[in-house]
Amino acid sequence: MSHVIITGGGSGVGAKIARAVADSGAKVTIMGRREAPLREQGLPFQVCDVTDPQAVAHAFAAARTENGPITGVVANAGAAHSAPFDKITAQDMADMLAVNVTGVFNVWQAALAEMKEAKRGRLIAVASTAGLKGYPYVAGYVAAKHGVVGLTRALALEVARTGITVNAICPGFIDTPLLERSVENITKSTGKTADEARAILKRASPQNRFVTTDEVTAAALYLLSDGAASVNGHALSLSGGEV
Ligand code: NAP
Repeated sequence: MSHVIITGGGSGVGAKIARAVADSGAKVTIMGRREAPLREQGLPFQVCDVTDPQAVAHAFAAARTENGPITGVVANAGAAHSAPFDKITAQDMADMLAVNVTGVFNVWQAALAEMKEAKRGRLIAVASTAGLKGYPYVAGYVAAKHGVVGLTRALALEVARTGITVNAICPGFIDTPLLERSVENITKSTGKTADEARAILKRASPQNRFVTTDEVTAAALYLLSDGAASVNGHALSLSGGEV
C-alpha cells in the first residue's frame, strides 16, 4: 500500500494533490503549520513546520505509525516574499531559503532511508518556473526555487540505482492563496486594481492564463506512478511555454 506525505496539504496546490492521491487509493498524510486548514481536508494530518528537522522527524514517525511506511513525499510547502532587492532583509532571505529549500531537504531526508530499504520511492518537489528563470522583486524566492531544482538534480543522481526517483514540478502562476497575496502586494505597491494585477501575471504565460491546480495535480500523480520510473532529476515546466 502506498503512503504519500504532502506538505502544505491544507490549502492550494497541496490540498488538491492530497485529495487526488487519496482518491487513487493510496494513504495520505498532509502536513502544515496551522491545524485548522489541515483538519478541514478530512485527511490524516500532522502539524509540522518543515523548516524544523526535529519537528519533521517527529511528524514522519507519527505518520508512519498511523498509515504505514512512507512511499512518496510531495514537498509542496512554500512561501513567496516579494520586495525590491535592496529592501530584502537578511531575515527575509533566510526565511525564503528555510521554507523553500531547507524544508524540501528536511522532508526528503526524513523518508529516504525507508525508501532505500524498500528499493522504491518517489520524492517530488513543487518548485516553480522561478526555479528555471528569474522574475523581478522576488529574488529570495527565485534563488530558493533554483536551489530546489539543484537539490532535485543532485539527489536524483545519488539514488538513481536504488529504485527511487526525484523530480521537481515547475508551474507558472497558479490561482491559489499564495497568488492572492502576490496580487495584494502588487495592488498596494503600484496602485493597480486586483484585475489589472492578475492580467499582468497571466501575461507571463504565452497561453495568457494561470496554471490550474488540476494541472499540477495531474503532473504529481504521473510522477508518483510506476509509469514514471525512468523520469529522474527532471524539472517539469507547467507554464504554457513560458520556460
Ligand atoms: P498556499 O496555498 O499558500 O500553500 C502553501 C502551503 O505551505 C500552505 O498550506 C502552508 O500552510 C504551507 N507552509 C508554508 N510554510 C510552511 C512551513 N514552514 N511548514 C509547513 N508548511 C508550510 O500556496 P500554493 O500556491 O498552493 O503553494 C504551494 C507550492 O506551489 C509552493 O511551494 C509554491 O511556491 C508553489 N508555487 C506556487 C505558484 C502560485 O502561483 N501559486 C506558482 C508556482 C509554484 P501553513 O501556513 O499552515 O503552514
